[in-house]
Amino acid sequence: MSSTPDSFADLGLSETLLKTLIEIGYETPSPIQAQCIPVLLEGHDLIGMAQTGTGKTAAFALPLMEQIDVKLMKPQALILTPTRELAIQVAEALQTYAKNLPGFHVLPIYGGQSYTIQLKQLSRGAHVIVGTPGRVMDHLERKTLNLDNLKTMVLDEADEMLRMGFIDDVEWILERTPAQHQTALFSATMPEQIRRVAQKYLVEPREIKIKSATATVAAIRQVYWQVSGMHKLDALTRILEVEEDFDAAIIFVRTKTATVELADKLSARGYAAAALNGDLNQQMRERVIEQLKSGALDIVIATDVAARGIDVPRVSHVVNYDIPYDTEAYVHRIGRTGRAGRTGNAILFVAPREIRMLRTIERATRSPIAPLTLPSRADVTNKRVSDFKQKVVEVLNAEGLDFFSNIVSQIAEEQNVGAEEVAAALAMMAQEGKPLQIAGEDPRPAPAPSFDSRDSRPRPGSFDRDERKPRADRGDKPSFESRGERPRREERPTRSAPSGDMVRYRIDVGRDHGVQVKDIVGAIANEAGIESRFIGRIALYDESSTVELPAGMPGEASNALKRTRVRGVPINLRPDEGRQDGGASAERKFDGERSFKKKSFDR
Ligand code: AMP
Repeated sequence: MSSTPDSFADLGLSETLLKTLIEIGYETPSPIQAQCIPVLLEGHDLIGMAQTGTGKTAAFALPLMEQIDVKLMKPQALILTPTRELAIQVAEALQTYAKNLPGFHVLPIYGGQSYTIQLKQLSRGAHVIVGTPGRVMDHLERKTLNLDNLKTMVLDEADEMLRMGFIDDVEWILERTPAQHQTALFSATMPEQIRRVAQKYLVEPREIKIKSATATVAAIRQVYWQVSGMHKLDALTRILEVEEDFDAAIIFVRTKTATVELADKLSARGYAAAALNGDLNQQMRERVIEQLKSGALDIVIATDVAARGIDVPRVSHVVNYDIPYDTEAYVHRIGRTGRAGRTGNAILFVAPREIRMLRTIERATRSPIAPLTLPSRADVTNKRVSDFKQKVVEVLNAEGLDFFSNIVSQIAEEQNVGAEEVAAALAMMAQEGKPLQIAGEDPRPAPAPSFDSRDSRPRPGSFDRDERKPRADRGDKPSFESRGERPRREERPTRSAPSGDMVRYRIDVGRDHGVQVKDIVGAIANEAGIESRFIGRIALYDESSTVELPAGMPGEASNALKRTRVRGVPINLRPDEGRQDGGASAERKFDGERSFKKKSFDR
């Protein structure tokens, strides 16, 4: 287990925030929180090497909130994120942490959202702004955002901002922030350009890196399920039901609240389950563990701290219902199974944006974690039927069936039916509230491959073998960059087989502006809400470029794109009437309807 302080109280946070953390069920700080919070509270600049899932949001959000003067309704902190989704998520996290800070206001601003709404919200005032670089830049230029009172600036997922072509915008913003403020930069990796930005704009930053200890986990079968198309709870019960050799499980979640909620839900579904968390006193904890040992309980839902050191040989499965913060926690968790010479099973639930953490775990444990296909309804039914048959066979072999055979014969005779039909009626009765056939939907297959902006790797299962290797292993650059250099005409890599019509547009930025393909992709993806996989071929010329986009673009999206800037130049997107440069575009057909995230324009 990581050597982190056991308590948030040790980190120097105020009583108000400590109270909030208790209320929302955070038991202990994650390693990145334990290290970053004191440093930020002391006022240092900071470089944090951490990825999604490590708890980095709270690591910068909590100290930042300690600095806010709620009475002053002016932006005092600015958090830059690469995507609108992350901006919203971070803003929501801050709002949650502010539940005991009346009057605290955080505002997400991002491309694609109507300016009118944003202007109204900005004029009403906010203490913290969370935004994507392009839109923040716009508001600074229009003077609708004023940073004179800025105390803290956070660059979240800096390497993603670089990859999406926003780093110049980020620098532009950094150059326009007041000299006196604290800056924290978080990045999963530290490419040279990010280092350079850190050196230029951060003052004597402390560098914090979460180490990933390597460990072997030989006797444990490790699998992961990529969360998609089904609730985690439904997926969990399906998996547990068909797992071979299931005896008992420890399920890990992040908060105390979640232990109790999940225990209640599993109990309601007929499992002998209980919560194990830091709120239980020593005696109660021991009782839960005793019950797990004796078989009075089959499932214990625990937080990391509460499950420390549990040694119950019958634990056949560990489920990482919430992904752990770091590899040490993972190794510790899965070490609760496969004990006393038995084989163990570790199941990990991974949200698409947590895939990077999955890869880190694989590297640290030096063992691949195989994808798990969720059991279908038919699989569950088959398992239930086979268990049922097994039970019937056991009873058939038992003594004293004569009395019951007699009853069956009587019913058959009285009702003028065969013994088979009577047996069928009895089998139906014997389901005991748990039908042999399960209702509900089968999960949809995992989403189509997309270049997830929060994750530098393609999603699993959707690319060929070679593409599934991390980029570093393939020895090439990210696909956008590698295509964005010298040739006269650049094509975007064919990553999926889209269908539907494409329209070619011309934009007023080209090679002479220093623009690369990735800049155009990043700007369009963020400003118009078009996933990068739906952006077709891009051709760079000296003074302009062409880009193919799905037909049927909503008016709001095309308006947003008309105003979009790349490298500070308005792109003035319009249908291309000009030169036909090769016929490849006709082959790239997309489903235009599906490729625009309509929702983002409704807000
Ligand atoms: P992040 O890495 O910041 O995206 O956080 C990942 C998830 O962990 C979020 O759902 C947080 O609410 C949760 N989380 C962060 N810190 C803690 C903590 N100390 N205890 C429990 N959950 C946490």
